[in-house]
Amino acid sequence: MKTKILKQNQIDEAVNFLKNAELIALPTETVYGLAADATNEEAVSKIFSAKGRPSDHPLIVHLDSFNKIQEWVEEIPDAAIRLAHYFWPGPLTMILQKRKNVSDLITGGLETIALRIHKHSIALRVIEKLGTAVAAPSANAYKRTSPTKPEHVLKALSGKIAAIIDDGRCRIGLESTIIDMTSAVPVILRPGAITRLMIEPVININIQEPLAHQQKVPGNMAVHYQPEKPLFLISMEEIRRRLPQEKNVAIMHHSDIIETKNATYYRMSRNKSEYARNLYATLHTIDATQVNKIFVEKPPFHNEWLDITDRLHKASST
Ligand code: AMP
Ligand code: MG
Repeated sequence: MKTKILKQNQIDEAVNFLKNAELIALPTETVYGLAADATNEEAVSKIFSAKGRPSDHPLIVHLDSFNKIQEWVEEIPDAAIRLAHYFWPGPLTMILQKRKNVSDLITGGLETIALRIHKHSIALRVIEKLGTAVAAPSANAYKRTSPTKPEHVLKALSGKIAAIIDDGRCRIGLESTIIDMTSAVPVILRPGAITRLMIEPVININIQEPLAHQQKVPGNMAVHYQPEKPLFLISMEEIRRRLPQEKNVAIMHHSDIIETKNATYYRMSRNKSEYARNLYATLHTIDATQVNKIFVEKPPFHNEWLDITDRLHKASST
């Protein structure tokens, strides 16, 4: 199969592929998603084979409008309605009780379902024209670094998917926040751009936020988001200490450092949003070089940076 690269105005072509049970990669504000018609089991099963993803890993279903939510969930708690009104469309995924008729293929056999309305006008238009919803995990090979640019998608999935809509670089660059709304006290399962401190005032409940890499939920394992090169998440002191013994290492840092000849340096922003936007792209760039390992300076210890810290923990080899 030759993967077709579609422009932003080729929405009808994208919709036709989905109607024919094919997979297409869609831009969102977080990362590129690998979309299939969520109401077509044949199409959804192709996601697992294209990614090499185990079939018990649940998928996120993307809607284009809040009115469609009843087709997927049994009931929606008041707090979830408030979050939907406040943060959708946006980088927030909610776990809710699924309706009985929702395919086990989507939920990995769970009684719950992950739902989101993302904020990307082209991808929303595709879903609207399709008339149903799409199941869409990140468009990368299983456990690998998520794609934030079309070339990242093509590197992993070219020839395995019908098409990609090219809309350049993703604005946020990290996956959505996932919040489980099925318990009395909501729990953040995966930190993202929408933080606990942003959510709490909207629902007036103190929510739980365990570090997501410690969570034991299907599809959320300790090793994930991995670049091909081994990655070590260490302090700047540790980088300085280990550096003289290294021959060919990439260093991602946000603090000042004096550059040496035995390393390639990737200066990251001290601005959190900018750092997030460039994180995966930098890892993809480093993967294409000849270095044999990656040292990443630990990000600031601050609630706002929790999503970045979480992804780096999961990407690290230690
Ligand atoms: P991805 O779309 O590849 O970024 O991954 C989807 C994420 O959603 C994984 O971390 C899953 O564990 C999570 N997820 C999807 N459905 C559920 C669910 N019903 N309960 C808990 N987590 C879920
Ligand atoms: Mg993923």
